[in-house]
Amino acid sequence: MQPAVIAHQVHQLRTTFAQGKTRDLNWRLTQLHQLKLMLIEQEGEFLAGLKSDLGKSEQEAWTSEIGFLVSDIKHSIKHLKTWTKARKVATPLFVQPGKSYLLPEPLGTVLIIGAWNYPLQLVLAPLVAAIAAGNCAVLKPSELSVKTAELLAQYISQYLDPTAYCVISGAVAETTELLKQRFDHILYTGGEGVGKIVMHAAADHLTPVTLELGGKCPCIVDSTTDLNVSAARIAWSKWMNAGQTCVAPDYVIVEQAFLNSFVAALKHKLSEFYQADVSQSVDYGRIVNARHFSRLSHYLEEQDIILGGKTEAESNYIEPTIVLNPSADSPVMQEEIFGPILIILTVENIKQAIEIINSKPKPLALYLYTKNSEFEQQVLSQTSAGSVGINDGMMFMANPNLPFGGVGNSGMGAYHGKFGFDTFSHLKTVMKRSFMFDVALRYPPFNAAKLKMLKRLL
Ligand code: NAD
Repeated sequence: MQPAVIAHQVHQLRTTFAQGKTRDLNWRLTQLHQLKLMLIEQEGEFLAGLKSDLGKSEQEAWTSEIGFLVSDIKHSIKHLKTWTKARKVATPLFVQPGKSYLLPEPLGTVLIIGAWNYPLQLVLAPLVAAIAAGNCAVLKPSELSVKTAELLAQYISQYLDPTAYCVISGAVAETTELLKQRFDHILYTGGEGVGKIVMHAAADHLTPVTLELGGKCPCIVDSTTDLNVSAARIAWSKWMNAGQTCVAPDYVIVEQAFLNSFVAALKHKLSEFYQADVSQSVDYGRIVNARHFSRLSHYLEEQDIILGGKTEAESNYIEPTIVLNPSADSPVMQEEIFGPILIILTVENIKQAIEIINSKPKPLALYLYTKNSEFEQQVLSQTSAGSVGINDGMMFMANPNLPFGGVGNSGMGAYHGKFGFDTFSHLKTVMKRSFMFDVALRYPPFNAAKLKMLKRLL
C-alpha cells in the first residue's frame, strides 16, 4: 500500500473522530453489535481461515478466538453504560463545597498491531475495547497469518463504519509507514524487538503505548499436586495451537524424584488428546511457516529429547516434544520457544524454582501446580509475572474481570473487559466548586495568621 494512501486513511479517521460521532453511546453499541454479527455470520469463513493459517481445529479456533471475542463483546455491551459514567471520588474538607470525579473520554484515533498466533483475537479484542471507549481505530493484522488478515480486511469495512475503522494490510513497510503517523494510542502485540521499534516511533509523537509482549513462561510443578489433573491442564495449555501461544508454559520445573511420574502422566494425556500418531490428529495445529519451523527444529539439535521429536517440513509439523535439562546457554533455553517443545528442568528441592525464575526477565505468565499453600504464598510473594495461574493453565484469560498484560520485558499496560476500556480512555479529572464560602485564606496579601490556618487545614 502506498504511503500516501495510509496517510489519507489515518487523516480520514481523525476527521471522523473530530466530528464527534464515535462519542455517542448508542453509536458505539451499534458498532459492537455489528462486530458480533460479523463473527457470527462469517464464522465459517474465519474458521476456514484459521485452519489454513495455523491448522487450528474447529473447537480450538472457536473457543480461543471467535467464542472468546463474542463473549468479550457481550460483556462490553452489558457494562458499557456503567463504564462511561462519571466516577465520583471524595472531596477533601478544604475544597468544600465541591464535587470531584473522573470522566472517561475517548483518546482519539488509535493503532492496533496484531501478532499471527491468535490472528483474530489479538486484533479484535483490542478493537472491542477501542470501540467501547469511543475511539476510531486502524487495525494492522499480522501478515504471517495470511488468510485471516485477508478476511479481516474484507469484513471489517463491510460490517463497521468505514469512516471510523479500517484495516491496513501489508508487512513491515506498511507498519513502518503507519508508525510515522500520529496516533493517540498504540496497542502492539508481538515480540520484544519490534516492541522497541513501536515504542521508539511512538515517542516522536509522545503517543502512549500498550505493549503486549512475550518471553519464557515458567511452570512449577510441585510433587504435592494432583498429578492427573495437572498433566491434563499442562498438556492442554502447552500444545494448544501447537505451542504457539504467548502464555503457554515454556519450561517446567520439577523435583528430580518426581520427573518419571510427571513425564509418564504427560505422555498418557498426550496420547488421550491427540492419539498415538499426533500427525494424524485433526485437533493438533501446524507451525505458521517454514521460517518458524526451521527456528524450532534447530532448537532440538544436540538436546536430550525424552518425548516426541519428529518433524515434517512439507507440512510444518512438529510433534509435541519434551527436552530435558538443556544447558543454560543453549538457544532453546535462551529464547522464547513459541512452539510445541516443552523444556523440563529438574531440581533437588522445588524451592530452587524461585531462584531460577528470578534469574530471568519477568514473564508474561507464571504457573504453579501445588497443594502446598505455604509454597504457593512463597512463590506469589517472591516472584513477579504479568499473570499467575495456580493449578491451571491460561484460564485467567477467560475471566473478563482480570486485566491481561505483562510486566518488565513481557510488556506494559493491560486490557480485557473494563481494563481495555480504561486503556483506550483518558480519565479526565473534574472538580466542580460552589461559588459559596469563598474563603480568602489562599489569596494575597499573605500573612502569618493565614499561613498558620492553612497549615492546620492541609
Ligand atoms: P509478528 O511477526 O506477527 O509481528 C507482530 C506485528 O509487528 C505484525 O503486525 C508485523 O507486521 C509487525 N512488524 C514486524 N516486524 C516489524 C518491523 N520491523 N517494524 C514494524 N512492524 C513490524 O509477530 P511476532 O513478533 O512473531 O509475535 C510473536 C511474539 O509475540 C512472541 O514473543 C509472543 O510471545 C508475543 N505475543 C504476545 C501476546 C500477548 O498478548 N502478550 C500475544 C501473542 C504473541
